[in-house]
Amino acid sequence: MDLSTYIRDVPDFPKKGILFKDITPLLKDRRAFAAAVDALKDRLSGQTFDAVAAIEARGYILGAPLAYAMGLGFVPIRKIGKLPWRTFQAEYLLEYGAGAIEVHQDGLVPGQRVLAVDDVLATGGTLQGTAKLVEQSGATVAAMGVLLELTALGGRQRLTGYRLEALLQV
Ligand code: AMP
Repeated sequence: MDLSTYIRDVPDFPKKGILFKDITPLLKDRRAFAAAVDALKDRLSGQTFDAVAAIEARGYILGAPLAYAMGLGFVPIRKIGKLPWRTFQAEYLLEYGAGAIEVHQDGLVPGQRVLAVDDVLATGGTLQGTAKLVEQSGATVAAMGVLLELTALGGRQRLTGYRLEALLQV
């Protein structure tokens, strides 16, 4: 199954000059959605993880079923101001903006091996911020998993030192 055919290119969204990779056609197709989660799980097998940490909002759509399929708990990484309990915070840069993300201080446990999940890897800023939060929590990023890597944006170079699995690359 060629999952790349389920990803729609939307030019100039959310800003002029950005080619947005819309994964909603993949998500609404039960076979493609299941195939994507299963294939990511297969790519990451052979390693042990203690938790999945995924990034608001599209990272949750893949990270939650992946956690369930792998028998792991799920820890949400959110934009600032949405989590109710005490948090660790990290700043990050996006392809189309900047922001800050946070995680509950008791979300991850020191020593845990964490799988960080997002839908698209662009410049790598979001996953870099996520790695900072995992490390602030005393845990380690055992691997990062994304559905799609935009190779021209150099995210992988920014994340050297981490194991990174991308199901699709363009
Ligand atoms: P980055 O931090 O630059 O790697 O950007 C990755 C994050 O921004 C992910 O959470 C993506 O959902 C989103 N993102 C960045 N660029 C795009 C794009 N061209 N198409 C879809 N999502 C994107």
